[in-house]
Amino acid sequence: MNVLAHRLAVPLDEAALAARLLDGFRAGSLDPLGGVTRPAWSALESACHRLWAEAGEAHGLARHVDAVGNCWLAPPGLGDAPAMATGSHLDSVPQGGNFDGAAGTVAGLLCALRAARDGIPLRAVALRGEESPWFGAPYVGTRAAFGALEPAELATPRRDSGLTLAQHIAEQGGDARAAGAGVALPEIQRTTMFWELHIEQGPVLLDRDLPAAAVSAVRGHIRFPRARCLGEAGHSGVVPRHLRRDPAMAVAELLMDLDGIWARSLQEGNDLVVTAGLVMTEAEASTATRIPAEVRFALDIRSANADVLDGMRGFLARRCADIGRSRGVEFTLGTRVEAAPIRLDAAGHDAIQAALATPYSTVSGAGHDAAEFARRGTPAAMVFVRNAHGSHNPREAMEVSDLMLGVEAMYAAIRARA
Ligand SMILES: [Zn+2]
Repeated sequence: MNVLAHRLAVPLDEAALAARLLDGFRAGSLDPLGGVTRPAWSALESACHRLWAEAGEAHGLARHVDAVGNCWLAPPGLGDAPAMATGSHLDSVPQGGNFDGAAGTVAGLLCALRAARDGIPLRAVALRGEESPWFGAPYVGTRAAFGALEPAELATPRRDSGLTLAQHIAEQGGDARAAGAGVALPEIQRTTMFWELHIEQGPVLLDRDLPAAAVSAVRGHIRFPRARCLGEAGHSGVVPRHLRRDPAMAVAELLMDLDGIWARSLQEGNDLVVTAGLVMTEAEASTATRIPAEVRFALDIRSANADVLDGMRGFLARRCADIGRSRGVEFTLGTRVEAAPIRLDAAGHDAIQAALATPYSTVSGAGHDAAEFARRGTPAAMVFVRNAHGSHNPREAMEVSDLMLGVEAMYAAIRARA
């Protein structure tokens, strides 16, 4: 029996290893202000990459760090052969939770160990910098591995250090030129499919009493961060209704119309979420006795279905025109930010769903590294694991037993695919 076979033959307490790694990540990155803080391309993030990689090496996997600092683990015999990969990111938002990203790296490691045991070609990867607070943009580690970072991004300073992304990549031993070379690193080119386990960032699995679910798509969005409705200021006590041009009532009508079509759309079985995260009259001039002259508001409309988004775009335009006419106000929606929904791999989704033996599957309302792989042409599949209190906050709460069920399902799907 060679050394590798011997190491792989040692029975592994997967749940204990998962708990030990998650505790290790947490202990290394506690924030004095609460939660955990692991900045992208920080020494803390690197230390967590090392902890993760050493656990893989202890069980016979070989470590390899790519040119931008993502850490890969593979069975030693795999070499440069094409193979599927699984993992997630190890950075966190400032004062975040311990499981967003980290759970997926642990799941990736466990799947890679199982795959090595079963002779299935599979790499695990701990990615860098997925969270947007650090450099003002998301999926930086994945996009860097695709060679897709713009020069302006590489020159962006990190919010806490003032050093640029290029400087941080170099500081952690990487090559910033590779991150913006316009060509994917070899590690990406030999990745035939990407699998990611991630904590659910909303309350649905908890509400449905399900430990895990397959993810079919990542929602796209239409967003208007700086919309305005212009009317005319006036005395609240004297201007009669038919002579008013009240933007507050107009925006309220628009929002209720959006809420109504949202409810109808759900009844028809569509996926849709609508948020007005900012609604305000003029901060300085507004009083209880003044009809406001202007309301500033923001809209964020998301769906996993591009046709639904198209329908909402048309509905919004028509209602703004109609309400503008009937109320004598003018809507200017301003800059529009759009992203198309991303379909994840259907066969991968179905295999995860079959392994979980539940008819329920979900969509992701937030972006993920897996979605970025899919968007750039590498098939990707995801599984969500139940988690309380959302994410990006210190109260994230995932049970290791749920994580293990997610690992079980994802590995069953990987094995079926291989
Ligand atoms: Zn994440």
